[in-house]
Amino acid sequence: MAKISTVKGFADHLPEEALRFAFMEAKAREIFSLYSYREIHIPLLEYTELFARSIGTETDVVQKEMFTFPDRRNRSLTLRPEATAGVMRACMEHGLYAKESQSRLFTFGPMFRYERPQKGRMRQFHQVDCECLGTEEPRADAEIILMLMNYLRALGLEDLTLELNTLGCKRCRPAYRERLKAFLSGLSREDLCEDCRRRLEVNPLRLLDCKNPVCAELTAGAPEISAQVCPDCREHFARTRELLESLGQSHVLNPRLVRGLDYYTRTTFEVLSGNMGASSSLAGGGRYDGLAESIGGPDIPGIGFACGLERLALLLPPRPLPVPDFYIAILEEKAFAPALLLAERLRAEGFSGSFSFSATSLKSGLRSASRQRARYALILGSNELEKGVVLVKNLESGLQKEEILDDFSRLDG
Ligand SMILES: [Zn+2]
Ligand SMILES: [Zn+2]
Repeated sequence: MAKISTVKGFADHLPEEALRFAFMEAKAREIFSLYSYREIHIPLLEYTELFARSIGTETDVVQKEMFTFPDRRNRSLTLRPEATAGVMRACMEHGLYAKESQSRLFTFGPMFRYERPQKGRMRQFHQVDCECLGTEEPRADAEIILMLMNYLRALGLEDLTLELNTLGCKRCRPAYRERLKAFLSGLSREDLCEDCRRRLEVNPLRLLDCKNPVCAELTAGAPEISAQVCPDCREHFARTRELLESLGQSHVLNPRLVRGLDYYTRTTFEVLSGNMGASSSLAGGGRYDGLAESIGGPDIPGIGFACGLERLALLLPPRPLPVPDFYIAILEEKAFAPALLLAERLRAEGFSGSFSFSATSLKSGLRSASRQRARYALILGSNELEKGVVLVKNLESGLQKEEILDDFSRLDG
């Protein structure tokens, strides 16, 4: 029969890789807890409308990158392409916002986008995601950005660049959008890439961060949004930048940083790694003060970020799999009962290990122990059973000694 493989764009994480992801999650829990963020889990599947209304029907994500399908009763469902909309929905659905005026939440897990699979970009990918809901204060912007930088540094990453921009608010962005459209209407459509030709009408800001070098050159003289925002937005951005500086966090302005989703407002940011070449973005986020209203909620301002774990994983050194403390080589059928008891006693003491499920020769038992890189081989055969002992062999030093089987429950020395 033909073999069955993974679905295109979906990947397994084998034990070494799974360990790396577990490390990134453990560090996230450690660092985010220091800032009083609480873990939340939201479903992978939501009604399509949640993403269409929050991310925006004209964005690339909603237009062509979502895994959308009807259920058996013909309701349109979508595998989540990102976490922010779902966290906001959960927050509103359970009244978290009413209970606590500020919600600090983080989550992890797989996200799904129907893109052409390429290195570092899968259709199922993983993110760590943080959201601070309920405040417009620039202090919240500075704090969550600093927390992100501390998380990346805690993973051991260096050579990080923080880029910042402001996208204005619903009062000042429309005017900028018109100015930008006026500028773009002077370009010749045919020279733009196919995506940008479509974006021209529906999402002109996205032309600013097109990675196509021709588009980048054509839009080089475009008006910059940070120079066009209203006084409130200008003040908000200046405060955020000052606070970051006073906390010792440097940054660079990137007036072309616009991000792909409609719900972003004001502060927007991205962290780049110097070690990764062109597609070097490790994390990104921003403020989304209009998101809650777009999905039928009250006016809940918020700011958040997401880190791509596959990208981070490429920068982390491999983590060695833990080695077992013991392996019991069982040479006689009748040694199984005492061997199982012995294994359980050792595990109760915190030692890890296993045993052969069928009786083996001494030679193959020792081979299994060293293949598993166990620290000790414990040997139980008819000799040992008669004497009531277990033979303990230190596989590093080669030294061995007998221990009384009934008392033996420690592996040190
Ligand atoms: Zn504004
Ligand atoms: Zn383009």
